[in-house]
Amino acid sequence: METCGNCTQPSADLEAVHRVYLLFDSGRVVGAEPVAEVERWCLSCRTVYPNEPTHPNEHAGG
Ligand SMILES: [Zn+2]
Repeated sequence: METCGNCTQPSADLEAVHRVYLLFDSGRVVGAEPVAEVERWCLSCRTVYPNEPTHPNEHAGG
């Protein structure tokens, strides 16, 4: 079974996402930076950790 790119646990419910790094200042979030690299995360990680879904079915325009 394929494993999650974040927690490395095997999961049947992986989806491609961009990891998002949150920028903190004095304990509060002041920004978010999605990375270009695509990872495959399980449902748990997609719920707990900041991420952006990829859009593989979207085409230019629309
Ligand atoms: Zn995971």
